[in-house]
Amino acid sequence: MSGAATKEEYIEQLNKHIPGTVYLLHFDPPYLHAKHYVGWTAKDPEDRLTLHLNGAGSPLVRAVLNNGGTVSIVRLWEGFDRHFERRLKDHSSSRWCPKCSVRPMEATHFKNCVRKEK
Ligand SMILES: [Zn+2]
Repeated sequence: MSGAATKEEYIEQLNKHIPGTVYLLHFDPPYLHAKHYVGWTAKDPEDRLTLHLNGAGSPLVRAVLNNGGTVSIVRLWEGFDRHFERRLKDHSSSRWCPKCSVRPMEATHFKNCVRKEK
């Protein structure tokens, strides 16, 4: 299984503010216009990232790997829900990426998306 949420699961995860880990993947070289992938998982992020790196996660990440590109895990935000993931996706990912930005931003202004209790 891919681990990707169905639309119904996604809406439930949003509405219930399920805490998880948001991660940022950086592609080298960029694939078409894509340089990054932002994702969320409520499970062990290592498992989710292993799926991605095996080409069994996002189709975009698989395409990068199939074209000989490399995928790096550059940021992890633990204890955040899918609203946080959505807020990150509203902006260019380069600003969060330590490979693309000399001073990557901390995204602390999205603190209302944090749900630490598990
Ligand atoms: Zn980057």
